[in-house]
Amino acid sequence: MHYISTRGGMQPLPFSDTILMGLAPDGGLALPEHYPQIGREQLDAWRGLSYAELAFEVIRLFATDIPEADLKDIVSRTYTAEVYGSAEITPVKRLKDGLVILELSNGPTLAFKDMAMQFLGNLFEYVLAKKGEELNIVGATSGDTGSAAEYAMRGKAGINVFMLSPDGLMSPFQRAQMYSLQDENIHNIAIKGMFDDCQDIVKAVQNDHAFKARHKVGTVNSINWARVVAQVVYYFKGYFNATASNDEQVSFCVPSGNFGNVCAGHIARQMGLPVERLIVATNENDVLDEFFRTGVYRPRGTANTWVTSSPSMDISKASNFERFVFDLVGRDAAKVRELWAKVDSGEGFDLSAQLAATREQFGFASGKSTHADRLATIRQVDREDGVVVDTHTADGIKVARDVRRPGETVVCLETALPAKFADTIREALDRDPPRPAGFDGIENLPQRVTVFDADAAAVKDFIEAALA
Ligand SMILES: *Cc1c(COP(=O)(O)O)cnc(C)c1O
Repeated sequence: MHYISTRGGMQPLPFSDTILMGLAPDGGLALPEHYPQIGREQLDAWRGLSYAELAFEVIRLFATDIPEADLKDIVSRTYTAEVYGSAEITPVKRLKDGLVILELSNGPTLAFKDMAMQFLGNLFEYVLAKKGEELNIVGATSGDTGSAAEYAMRGKAGINVFMLSPDGLMSPFQRAQMYSLQDENIHNIAIKGMFDDCQDIVKAVQNDHAFKARHKVGTVNSINWARVVAQVVYYFKGYFNATASNDEQVSFCVPSGNFGNVCAGHIARQMGLPVERLIVATNENDVLDEFFRTGVYRPRGTANTWVTSSPSMDISKASNFERFVFDLVGRDAAKVRELWAKVDSGEGFDLSAQLAATREQFGFASGKSTHADRLATIRQVDREDGVVVDTHTADGIKVARDVRRPGETVVCLETALPAKFADTIREALDRDPPRPAGFDGIENLPQRVTVFDADAAAVKDFIEAALA
């Protein structure tokens, strides 16, 4: 299996090369040349597999240049009860109204990003050792991605992480999660400024090509193909857990920001998983909802991106969306280039005709949830089911209830645990969210962080000194 770019300008590459790459050299995103097709016989054989066994079966279809015994070792070290809290890895629970919640947030940082990032940490370590290379990850975070990356890469040979975060702007819980890591290869850098200032410094480092090459600088953002592929696995697992037989269909409802999570659902559906609909749930930042309702994509600037109580979905330019659009326009790379030239000029594009013509083929639907909806949903699920859900998952539940058809089984993806968003839970329920075992008092642990002004040169000096 080889990988091509959505913009058509990349020689097909094997899996191991694709996963170390950020954007493709032509600015596009990597996708497999075709999606492997899963027939009924394979589904029947997969239904009884454990999570790690299923992960091996799914990922090996894409990672054909990794010897099977090695891949098996990587996934069996990744998907363990020790890391994810139960042998099920991704258990489901049913709400009284029939909605199914697929739990994806029982990993070390209590958000679904651990599902793929833990795999990526082990995979990077393996691939780098094979190639005799090192990787220094420089990233910016306002919360979830940075902590998931740090917990995935901590203690890994050949990898250092330099994670920039805005000084004093994350919640005390999020700060404690990241800054309390004492591993030598994890470097927390707090910047006196906003998230955008952190992002600008990362861009400055990336654009200093000499520095980048000298220090093997890479990223782990959500466009990384290995993250998407690892997420495909839990759509299969969620389907098996939510149904009694492979004759059934389900729909998935996915709280979305950068479109990485639901992009994996799209790929699972294209592979032949019996998925009726993929329901994209957004918050007030509703670029994706607007697209799936109207076919018009109008990405917005930071000035028009609202700060909400589901902050991991405060995104107005969905980085993984290009992968779906490539399929939507019949894998026409020239068309994608033309569309993204319009995105870059701030214009957006209109694919209403293509979307209308392919409703059946791709099965997307969408909806939107606001702060008031989020609070009402958190209260309702607490009252009726005795379950406290986080703000992002609440957006998904709200949208699933809005668009659900009679008889449709909808699986809502849980993307974080409420302990991470205590302020909004207190606003909704007038009490603190439950804290999973092992997280009590983490705010009191010693923290390891270096504070800088928003100065790219100072950060580069720090990286250089740390690597010397
Ligand atoms: C990252 C994240 C999302 C959005 O996922 P995408 O893959 O960017 O669409 C939703 N909820 C939570 C809690 C997240 O951390």
